[in-house]
Amino acid sequence: MIDCIFCKIVKKIIPAKILFESENSIAFPDISPTAPTHILFIPKKHIESLDKLSIDDEKIIGKLMIEISEFARSQSLEKNGYRIVNNMGKDAGQTVFHIHFHLLAGREFNWPPG
Ligand code: AMP
Ligand code: ZN
Repeated sequence: MIDCIFCKIVKKIIPAKILFESENSIAFPDISPTAPTHILFIPKKHIESLDKLSIDDEKIIGKLMIEISEFARSQSLEKNGYRIVNNMGKDAGQTVFHIHFHLLAGREFNWPPG
């Protein structure tokens, strides 16, 4: 996906502070943080959104969730808790069309979300 900003981060064409990397995925800080900890976790495979997942992506997304959980624990974020957010499509406010999960922590979050 030549015009995908997150694919360019995966390929290190666009710089980002890589906080975690595996053969499956990478994580880097959100450029516009909305919490003291705001990290984006993305699979290396270009998948447009949650809506575009297929059963072939089962392992990729399953592994990504475990990677987020392990990373959060490595930062002791499970002590106070954290929120994982995926925005899918217009009404949810998705702006980058390479599936990603926001890891948010370091403050209390409202429910229901805005
Ligand atoms: P979403 O609105 O769920 O699609 O989230 C996209 C997120 O990507 C936003 O929170 C942006 O601040 C973030 N973002 C966009 N470009 C970059 C970048 N080059 N590096 C880090 N985060 C980015
Ligand atoms: Zn992409």
